[in-house]
Amino acid sequence: SIPLTFFAGIGGASKAGVLVKGSNYLETLAQTRYVVFDKTGTMTKGEFALSGIHHAVIPEEELLAYAAYAEANSTHPISKSIQEAYGKVIDGKRIKAVEEISGQGVIAQIDDTKVMAGNGRLMKTHHIPYQECSGIGTSVHIALNDQYAGHLLIADQIKESAKAAIQELKKIGIKKTVMLSGDREHVAKEVGKTLGIDVLYSELLPKDKVEKVEELLASKDAKAKVAFVGDGINDAPVLSRADVGIAMGVLGSDAAIEAADVVLMDDDPLKIAKAIRIAKKCIRIVY
Ligand code: ADP
Ligand code: MG
Repeated sequence: SIPLTFFAGIGGASKAGVLVKGSNYLETLAQTRYVVFDKTGTMTKGEFALSGIHHAVIPEEELLAYAAYAEANSTHPISKSIQEAYGKVIDGKRIKAVEEISGQGVIAQIDDTKVMAGNGRLMKTHHIPYQECSGIGTSVHIALNDQYAGHLLIADQIKESAKAAIQELKKIGIKKTVMLSGDREHVAKEVGKTLGIDVLYSELLPKDKVEKVEELLASKDAKAKVAFVGDGINDAPVLSRADVGIAMGVLGSDAAIEAADVVLMDDDPLKIAKAIRIAKKCIRIVY
């Protein structure tokens, strides 16, 4: 049977904006020693702003328009920033077909032009030579009818409380913090260094993130639990795989909220340590 205190614990946690889906997750949270994060939307704001257009072989406005059309149906934060930079209404009739490739980008048919918009991996997969850009930010490379046409550089910002959030985790006895990112190595490194994260992996696909969590699960002792924290966008598989999956921000996708064991009502990363603290306190009262 479940001690009543667990219900009180779950109730108390929910008042603090921490929704726990079952008393067993309070126990797992209390035993968490490894915290693994996603970068975009978890440690960074996930609000990208266009900072430049580079190596364009057609007028920049046209390149941006192609990107905006190709990305029009994507819910990725990158797409939102491109729509904002474009600033014009999309004529949906011009979008003949579109496919989103998780962790890479989109391929769309706009009128009679095949538009690819995404990262270096997407270009490599389709054997399109591309220009890398050393600026800080994420590049969205554009290819038109399989010819490289230039790229947009868009930058995100680290959340104000992210550094304190990592320090808090150390204070409450977390052994290791790990960041898993689909972004380019130099962008991920910049964030990891600024925040003081112990272990960093970049250029990962959603399935690689699952693999990294599995490696960690296999290498540690059974009592030390692994939490994964993500904002939702294509994180559902890794949220389910960790001992405790934590979805952050109520705006996260429905799939993520469903896959998660704990949902944080706002997107403040300080809430991660807070959730673990509440769980520990509750467990101490029970036993
Ligand atoms: P993260 O691990 O940082 O949360 P994602 O897994 O969501 O990132 O995406 C990884 C990378 O894939 C992004 O940094 C971006 O380069 C590329 N990408 C994903 N979705 C899109 C999209 N809709 N348009 C362009 N690029 C995208
Ligand atoms: Mg993500």
